[in-house]
Amino acid sequence: MTDAPVPDGAETLIERLGAVDARIAEVARANGRDPAEITRIVVTKFHPASLVRALRAAGVRDVGENRQQELSAKAQELDDLADLRWHFVGQAQTNKARAIRAVADGVHSLDRPRLADALDAAAGDPDAPALDVFLQINLTDDPARGGVHPDELLALAEHVTGCRTLRLRGVMAVAPLDEEPARAFARLARMSESVRSVDPSASAISAGMTGDFEEAIAAGATHLRIGSAITGPRPLRG
Ligand SMILES: *Cc1c(COP(=O)(O)O)cnc(C)c1O
Repeated sequence: MTDAPVPDGAETLIERLGAVDARIAEVARANGRDPAEITRIVVTKFHPASLVRALRAAGVRDVGENRQQELSAKAQELDDLADLRWHFVGQAQTNKARAIRAVADGVHSLDRPRLADALDAAAGDPDAPALDVFLQINLTDDPARGGVHPDELLALAEHVTGCRTLRLRGVMAVAPLDEEPARAFARLARMSESVRSVDPSASAISAGMTGDFEEAIAAGATHLRIGSAITGPRPLRG
């Protein structure tokens, strides 16, 4: 027994977290990688703030959200947890840039110059701490999917390096449904290399979700965005 109250379901939550982390470490080592170089972000979308609180109590610092309103509301509800790091992973409208920037430590879904400009302008003070950004690449043939077309990737990377308050960390992608994740992530790794020709420090790769994080680790992912394997199934969107 512990003194702190354990929220309902937290035991299984913590068991799932432990199991996923153990698997990440195992797969990293099997691929000759140091598990310490991998950041595991828990995507908590649709789950209540109380779940984020339970995760923080279990040692989680990096959490992800895909909608600005939900991000803002949860961050406000949890503003006593000063050391949480919020990652925005969803499609972003430019008119939400200010609200996103007010809370997020990283934006994984930067896919066009106008959004870069909006996030940059949202800093207010040009000497504000830089915002970490990842260029989301569309690995599908469907332009309606989020992400920059691979042909426009380097121009976007160059644009972002000119944004004073943004720090280009690397690339991000979601594996297409109709392609082997390993193959898609191999393409992503090559695109990551070309982005490094623009900015050698932009070496991060945000890839890997519940269904494909093992393939992502094998392909060099540095940031995993894992939701349901840890949180359990998402409640239906209200
Ligand atoms: C929801 C989401 C995830 C996590 O998905 P799971 O399959 O539940 O792990 C990762 N990345 C993005 C962009 C998401 O929207």
